[in-house]
Amino acid sequence: MYCIFCKILSGEAPADIIYRDEQVTAFRDIHPIAKTHILIIPNRHIDSVNALEPGDEALLGQMVMLAKELAAKEGVAEHGYRLMINTGVHGGQTVPHLHLHLIAGKLARFLLG
Ligand code: AMP
Ligand code: ZN
Repeated sequence: MYCIFCKILSGEAPADIIYRDEQVTAFRDIHPIAKTHILIIPNRHIDSVNALEPGDEALLGQMVMLAKELAAKEGVAEHGYRLMINTGVHGGQTVPHLHLHLIAGKLARFLLG
């Protein structure tokens, strides 16, 4: 199965990676919809929220905690940001590897449409 985010993790596809540890990786979205647009993904391939299993709670916590840290590093914590996980076709998910969007900037408030 071809997965662009797994290719980024393995180094076979390029990305602007800004954080990586044993569990999670963060890189800049290739088509940013706001000044700050970062994707946080698990290093293990998980299709979507629907594929989460008991035991994945800590992983999700790490993803959110990393979002908080990166928001501070990006200087957007004070003014705020949006964390978003799209799931499935109707949820607007286009890449079938679980990812948390960290979106901040003026446009973030218009993204609910
Ligand atoms: P979603 O629509 O929630 O599945 O979000 C997928 C996101 O991945 C979109 O915002 C895309 O712009 C982004 N994306 C797709 N391919 C790449 C890539 N090679 N590097 C960085 N971001 C990507
Ligand atoms: Zn993957």
